[in-house]
Amino acid sequence: MNSPQRIALRGDLLDFVDRPARAEPESPAVRFRPDHWLLIDGERIVGAQAKAPDEGWTRIDHGGKLILPGFVDTHVHSPQLDVIGSWGAELLDWLETYTFPSEQRFSDPGQAQRGSNAFLDALLAHGTTSAVVFPTVHKVSVDALFEAAQARGMRVITGKVLMDRHAPEALRDDVDGAEADCEALIARWHGRGRLAYAVTPRFAPTSSDAQLAMAGGLLARHRGLYMQTHVAENRAEVQWVAELFPQARSYLDVYERFGLLDERAVLAHGIWLDDADRALLHERGAQIAHSPTSNLFLGSGLFGWAEAEQAEVAISLASDVGGGTSLSMIRTMAAAYQVQALAGTKLSAWALLHTATRGGAQALGLKHEIGSLEAGASADVCVWDWAVGPLAQRRQQIASRLHEKVFAWLTLADERYLVETYVVGQVRYRRAGGEPGR
Ligand SMILES: [Zn+2]
Repeated sequence: MNSPQRIALRGDLLDFVDRPARAEPESPAVRFRPDHWLLIDGERIVGAQAKAPDEGWTRIDHGGKLILPGFVDTHVHSPQLDVIGSWGAELLDWLETYTFPSEQRFSDPGQAQRGSNAFLDALLAHGTTSAVVFPTVHKVSVDALFEAAQARGMRVITGKVLMDRHAPEALRDDVDGAEADCEALIARWHGRGRLAYAVTPRFAPTSSDAQLAMAGGLLARHRGLYMQTHVAENRAEVQWVAELFPQARSYLDVYERFGLLDERAVLAHGIWLDDADRALLHERGAQIAHSPTSNLFLGSGLFGWAEAEQAEVAISLASDVGGGTSLSMIRTMAAAYQVQALAGTKLSAWALLHTATRGGAQALGLKHEIGSLEAGASADVCVWDWAVGPLAQRRQQIASRLHEKVFAWLTLADERYLVETYVVGQVRYRRAGGEPGR
């Protein structure tokens, strides 16, 4: 599916020029350009205009459809597609019963390759063009994922999962072997094209002190690495961490003690944090990857969005499949709204959509590249239907103001609304029957 070099996409362009306030339906941060042409030259967006461009551009007419930047999913597990929707467990049982057996299959190179391809194609078919991903403990799973991302031109941040205890034998590494694997993977992949390496301790309970210290050493030695892990997801887990690390003030403090927290740290969940933790996250510039469908599905708890925002902690949005129940960042936004409704906080459509695009990009230090339709950004762009089916069509016809339209859209829509996904100017997903007019 190759696209021409200079293309112009017609549709209703929606993105952000700033961070919107949490609960205001009218926001100067929103940039809505209805019936405009988005100009893409090669891999980059170069502008947008109301007037049809001249014949030097290949015109692709998606008039009447919604054009958004590709979504940014900051926490998702590539080997867990196969356990999505598994019944009846909280976090620690979930890992034992479903996740660890599934991850063991990625020790096989063929399985790792097929699984990585299927995973990234699924992201693209859900409108996600950038992701921070957990593969497995196996080096081959990381190579396979980076290769698959490179073949699609996607912005992917990932790294070998570190686990040297409290996991099945087939998923355990050791400090020296893991360090050698990480060094080799960093040398091969970090900074190559759109790929970046993340030092990836699964979570505090599955790494020894020596392994966490080794992870901190990697971050200190190599500039620009990311760090991803889980923190304070579930109460039994928090209790276990307190027993395993009695010297640490809190769960988050375990990571602080080993030098794992900086502005490139992506911490999934962060439900059971206190004010001192949030102050530390702010000070380090680390982000919380909020994973609402997972938090609801595993009964983990309600994330304190308002408390995090008050403490000026960066928040991004994540599917956390397979604990999460959908790869769709639209379903994720809808769940985030519902979690905050339970917590007594109202989120505007703008706060949600910003967090899934420009906000996530900013938290990763990639605002110049992804998450917007700004000239100069990578042409990672998705075309969506405003409505599919009579109920949604009726709702969109009734909606008068833009916020009402977009909020109803993100409440009702899912991946079936996706028409096309572009990654660096190339079509990487097209819905069956979705041939645009030209
Ligand atoms: Zn996770």
